[in-house]
Amino acid sequence: MDGLANKTVLVTGGSSGIGAAIASEFALRGCRVAITARDLERLGTAADKMAQNGAQVRAIACDVTRREQVRRLRDSIRELWGDVQILVNNAGIARAVSFADMSDETWDQTLDTNLTGAYNCCKVFLPAMVEAKWGRIINIASTTAKVGYSHVTAYTASKHGLLGLTRSLALETGRFGVTVNAICPGYIDDERTRDNARIMADKTGKSVDDILKAFASSAPQKRLIEAEEVASLACLIAAPEMSGMTGQAINVDGGAVMV
Ligand code: NDP
Repeated sequence: MDGLANKTVLVTGGSSGIGAAIASEFALRGCRVAITARDLERLGTAADKMAQNGAQVRAIACDVTRREQVRRLRDSIRELWGDVQILVNNAGIARAVSFADMSDETWDQTLDTNLTGAYNCCKVFLPAMVEAKWGRIINIASTTAKVGYSHVTAYTASKHGLLGLTRSLALETGRFGVTVNAICPGYIDDERTRDNARIMADKTGKSVDDILKAFASSAPQKRLIEAEEVASLACLIAAPEMSGMTGQAINVDGGAVMV
C-alpha cells in the first residue's frame, strides 16, 4: 500500500475514537492528513499526538452540519496541500433512547450530523476528485445501517441513509475513478460503547458488565472490536490497488451481521 504516500486525506470527527485511529493510520502510511471536529482544543491535542515522528497532520475546526464551514475547510486544505483525494466521513453522534422518549431535537441533530454532514462533505469534496479522475470516499456507517436495533431509531435511520448515499453515489462516480464505500463497525471497545451500556444498565437494572458481555456475545467472535481494526480497513479501501471495489458496505463486527 505504498501508493498511499503523500495522498491528501480528510477525516471528519478525527479528534477521538475511530476517527483518531483512522487519521493516525493514514498518517503512519505517509499521507497528509487533515482532521476536523467542532472542539478545536481537543482536535489540536489529537493532531499533536499524531504528528509525533514527523507525520503530516493538521487540525482544522469545522462543524460538518454547516455548509459554509465545510466550504471554508476545503479552501484551507487546498491552500495547504491541494485537493482532498481521500475523504473519510466519520463524524457521528449516537444517543440511546426509546422512540417514545426521543426528542425532535435528537432526531434532527442525529440526521443532520450522521447523514447530512456526510452529504455536505461529499458535495464539497467530490468535484475535485471527479476532475482528477481519482478519489476515495469512505463512509463510516455501522451495522445499524443494515439491520434494526432497539432504542436507536434516529441513529439507525441515519446510518441506513448513509448506506443509501454510499450506493447511489457509487453509481454516479463509477466512471470517474472515484470509489465510494462504507465500513460498518460493530460494537467498538471504547467510551461510547461503555456509555451506551451504562444507559441500558440504568434502564434494565442489569450491571454494566453484563450489558457489555451481551454486546460481545452478540458476535460469533464473542468480543468487542478495536478502532484500529476499522482504521486498517479504511487504509485498505483507500489504496490505489482497490480501484475495483465501489458501492460496498463492509462489516467489521466479529461476524455479528452477515448481510
Ligand atoms: P466519538 O464520539 O469518539 O467521536 C465523534 C467525533 O465526531 C468527534 O471527533 C467529534 O468531535 C466529531 N463530531 C461530532 N459531531 C460533529 C460535527 N457536527 N461536525 C464535526 N465533527 C463532529 O465517535 P466514535 O469513534 O464512537 O464513532 C465514530 C464513527 O463511527 C461515528 O460515525 C459512529 O456512528 C461510528 N460507529 C461507532 C461505533 C462505536 O461503537 N463507537 C460503532 C459503529 C459505528 P466534536 O464533538 O468536537 O465535534
